[in-house]
Amino acid sequence: MKETNMWECDSCGVVEYVATPPGECEKCWKINSFVKVEEDEVDAKREADLAEGIKQDFEEEDENEN
Ligand SMILES: [Zn+2]
Repeated sequence: MKETNMWECDSCGVVEYVATPPGECEKCWKINSFVKVEEDEVDAKREADLAEGIKQDFEEEDENEN
């Protein structure tokens, strides 16, 4: 079973979900710029995205009620 890791380009911030880091960033072309995002950081990022989505839904619902 292949493990997928989250890698973030230290230069431009692009994120890749692959087992091993890309040798070259396809966005900024920097070589070996990817750093691994640790699992707890991945969860934090996911929760932040999720919270943002929930917040938007909640705000939309709130507008409909009034
Ligand atoms: Zn980059």
